[in-house]
Amino acid sequence: MEKVIIVGSGCAGLTAAIYAARANLKPLVLEGRQPGGQLSTTTMVENFPGFADGIDGPQLIMNMHAQAERFGARFSYSEVTGFEPAGNHIRLKADDEWLETQALIIASGAAARWLGLENEEKLVGHGLTSCATCDGAFYRNVPVCVIGGGDSAAEEAIFLTRFASKVYLIHRRDKLRASKIMADRVLAHEKIEPIWNTVVTKYVPDEKGEMAAVMLRNIESHEERELEVACVFVAIGHDPNTQVFSGKLETDPDGYLLVRHLAESKHPGVFIAGDVADRVYKQAITAAGSGCAAAIEAEKYLSGLPPA
Ligand code: NAP
Repeated sequence: MEKVIIVGSGCAGLTAAIYAARANLKPLVLEGRQPGGQLSTTTMVENFPGFADGIDGPQLIMNMHAQAERFGARFSYSEVTGFEPAGNHIRLKADDEWLETQALIIASGAAARWLGLENEEKLVGHGLTSCATCDGAFYRNVPVCVIGGGDSAAEEAIFLTRFASKVYLIHRRDKLRASKIMADRVLAHEKIEPIWNTVVTKYVPDEKGEMAAVMLRNIESHEERELEVACVFVAIGHDPNTQVFSGKLETDPDGYLLVRHLAESKHPGVFIAGDVADRVYKQAITAAGSGCAAAIEAEKYLSGLPPA
């Protein structure tokens, strides 16, 4: 029987691991399909307090991982495929093995959203991706496009200007949702061309199955046209990774886990942190803060103390 299992190893899960480890609970962190979470696929993080010159996302995550390990957190790459609350403990299936724990911290984060167009699955890795930091360098001196109008799209577009000959930013509205500082940078960049009020209706692969172009439709004029691009970077937000908990823990209609007070779920011993429950802020620092709260609440629960 474990004392605390933490599902997820992004900013929320690793912060929970640091706090739980320092409370001598020897947490077991199940890192899952995307170790390090969303920060592992981002570039410079400029708004995490304490790093006046910014810090590389993967570096920030590696630092948190080392910090948690230093205090005794244990890590496993396994992914949770089953969840059964059982009386005063919780059963979790991690890969093929069932584990038991007295307390559980769910910090499973959120996964990139896709457009749902024809051939989408086949084209992933062949000129279709949701990660500029992972794949941007493969597309040098060719035109690419980013879809979306939020901070992720802005950040990806700016990053891609290092490699691509041209970056089209395709957005379904006539202004960006991104924060002002990011939006201003995008709009001032000579390599970035925004294409407003426009949606992608089709991916157009070449005869080898590699992305060659996209079909665009202007949602006001309904005009259609083809745009040649070697890669499409989809940055239209994320969905919470809660499939395994669905029907067993409370969620909102979009699948975000519901939190009663700070980090507490309705089920005793189950605590929640980070983007898996956050449809509002979704920042590294808020994820870290909720990871801290979840670990403190788990510690109190295990000591028989009342919650906050
Ligand atoms: P987001 O803010 O939810 O933006 C998603 C964008 O994609 C929106 O512009 C949305 O259009 C568009 N979109 C959604 N579904 C679409 C579809 N089916 N077809 C076409 N476009 C679609 O997501 P995000 O950019 O990933 O950011 C998530 C959170 O992380 C935000 O709170 C953001 O501030 C934060 N973040 C911060 C940083 C940073 O501070 N460095 C970096 C990245 C992300 P509409 O505008 O029409 O809704």
